[in-house]
Amino acid sequence: MLFGRKNRKSIVIPSKKVKEWKYTTCNYCSTGCAIEIGLNEENRIVTTRGHAGADVNRGKLCIKGLLEHELFESPGRGTEPLIRNKHYEKFEKTSWDNALDVTAQKIKDIQAKYGKDSFAVVSTGQLLTEEFYTLGKLVRGCIGTNNYDGNTTLCMASAVSGYKRSFGSDGPPGCYEDFEHTHCLMAFGSNLPEQHPIIYWRLKEALEKRKFPLIVVDPRVTMLAQFADIHLPVTPGTDCVLINSMMHVIINEGLQDQAYIDAHTQGFEEIKALVQDYDPKVAQHTCGIDEDTIRNVARIYAKAPAAMSIWTMGINQSTHGSDGVANINNLNLITGNIGKPGGTSLSITGQCNAMGTREWSSCSGLPGYRYLENDADREEIANYWGIDKDFFPTKRGLSQTDIFPAIETGEIRGLWLVATNPMTSMPNTGRIRKAMEKLDFLVVQDVYEDVETNQYSHVYFPASVWAEKEGCHTNTERRVNLTSNVLPPFANSKPDLWIFNQMAKRFDNGKVINFPDKAEEAFEEMKQLSKGKARTLDISGMSYAKIIAARGIQWPYREGTEGLKGESRLYTDGHFQTKSGKANLIPVKFYNNNEQPCNDYPFWLNSGRVVEHFHTRTRTGKIGNCNKFSPTPYMEMNPDAAIELGIGHQTYVRLASRRGDAVVLVQLTHRVPRNMVFIPFHFHDCVNRLSLGLLDPYSRQPAFKQCSVRIEPVDQTEAARLNVERRTY
Ligand code: SF4
Repeated sequence: MLFGRKNRKSIVIPSKKVKEWKYTTCNYCSTGCAIEIGLNEENRIVTTRGHAGADVNRGKLCIKGLLEHELFESPGRGTEPLIRNKHYEKFEKTSWDNALDVTAQKIKDIQAKYGKDSFAVVSTGQLLTEEFYTLGKLVRGCIGTNNYDGNTTLCMASAVSGYKRSFGSDGPPGCYEDFEHTHCLMAFGSNLPEQHPIIYWRLKEALEKRKFPLIVVDPRVTMLAQFADIHLPVTPGTDCVLINSMMHVIINEGLQDQAYIDAHTQGFEEIKALVQDYDPKVAQHTCGIDEDTIRNVARIYAKAPAAMSIWTMGINQSTHGSDGVANINNLNLITGNIGKPGGTSLSITGQCNAMGTREWSSCSGLPGYRYLENDADREEIANYWGIDKDFFPTKRGLSQTDIFPAIETGEIRGLWLVATNPMTSMPNTGRIRKAMEKLDFLVVQDVYEDVETNQYSHVYFPASVWAEKEGCHTNTERRVNLTSNVLPPFANSKPDLWIFNQMAKRFDNGKVINFPDKAEEAFEEMKQLSKGKARTLDISGMSYAKIIAARGIQWPYREGTEGLKGESRLYTDGHFQTKSGKANLIPVKFYNNNEQPCNDYPFWLNSGRVVEHFHTRTRTGKIGNCNKFSPTPYMEMNPDAAIELGIGHQTYVRLASRRGDAVVLVQLTHRVPRNMVFIPFHFHDCVNRLSLGLLDPYSRQPAFKQCSVRIEPVDQTEAARLNVERRTY
């Protein structure tokens, strides 16, 4: 007898009556999952599924991808361009021509009065690559401001900076396939199951086939840490100490790959001298990992035939994020773990097209990893676009995190925000609010008109979303994949490419530079600019047809390449993009400049993701199940600390920092140590009211994860009422 199963009915999944599946790519995280969108008889989009033939996700999707088709008609979408009435009290609908004319004129007026750089542009990591390239043309080639950046400064800038310093160029050298070849994986500040669930699934599948040590470095017992063989709960901000100490062990025990070091690197003697100060006996007191464990981990890593490191925001969002990346590169260079199967330094990127903006948006330079500082690069791009090279600045302007302070001082008077929401994403949002209020002119371009930052805008451009347009993404492993245009733009929203092209027509150089209407034509320009043996970023052999046929192609993929496979790894020949061709070993000294817990503010404040949400919930906050499973902010707190303060599970508290305060629901868990609290960063008016965000000196990326707070009691009834009000479902 089958106990309890007598009357059980089998689960029936209702047929969505899909008539046709259309190929596209997920528009959330950088994993780069290939998706098929299902349309029914009435040509309505009814579902999504993972593409079984795509190497990245092999038919799988996480909750965000599975529900992504609900974006198209989700609440809050912008339907018409909006403009403030003459008293700036409320928005009124306007035509696209008027919205664009007013904006172009405001940009020109501000630039005429206060100088070219007084108008700034901040974009995102979520446009399509052809849109990034076009925005770069518009900003660098037509508008001419040097204060132009992407919100990738909040997530990937340290990885970019660290790669450039170590290898002479940006570009993650490894790939997901490395999981299948590695003999040891060390994850620094990366909680894959919640951040990049399908990359995690690739890792888990590799581990099931062939066991290898998984070492997780994270102050919190994250989901990934729970699966680790060794978890190193490092003191926040001390990863440099841990790595230096590991290198101390490796070099002093002669475990380094001296042949690789001699042939392919420079600066070894400096590293060797520096790490003598990081004996594990001493380092353990700073980084919080005991001496024996440091030695053990160092030996496992160095003795593995191939070892790899991955990292995410635990490294990048730090006052020494760029140094942290350079130091991970140091570890891999001295152990000969670059450019070989299973041996790599793989930054797991954040947004779906953070790589695309790095490659082609011209935010930090000129297209195709070219530099404003390089005369030949300026000349090449100016000639290709047909403008005077002196129109370009000769060095990079302000990054996003420096643009807001420049608004405070009056240096910047106008701002164009494209698909980014600083009122939720930037640290110390109280300060950002004041900066927004000070602007003479703000234009917000976003899919959603209810995005928080739009409260401060003078003009709003409604943009189309995801498969309402066409173009490419580049994922974490340099794989270029295509988002097909599956349905027309919602209401009177427009593709970002169209908006940039229309704006270009309103500037003098916009009549000189070619601004093609079709994304594929912009892609052809990018191909031409990428061509050349010396370039790692070479996409000249690609076409949309080939990309779809291959379900994504990794660069470099040079003109004339046979077959549909790009190169899986960079630097396989040990030749780097530096002048000498050798990688730089960069001594990284630890300095402690973070805000620290103290008597008044005794807890570290840490932040991160939950699997259901993406960034500031602009999109996922509108999607039924994403929002239902994770509707409100909460705070993880250690039960021992809670007992000391008399705080109960699922009660509300007020958190206070030197910047501001926030009311949150307590979740007691041993995931966090006694002196730390953790809050997901997705929610408006929450963790970033408290965060400090000191900046990395190289990348200008903020240290979101290292500041201090105190916990105060709060009226439970009032707090509960507030929390119910801010639920959006
Ligand atoms: Fe999309 Fe990332 Fe989820 Fe894949 S893992 S479905 S790319 S959000």
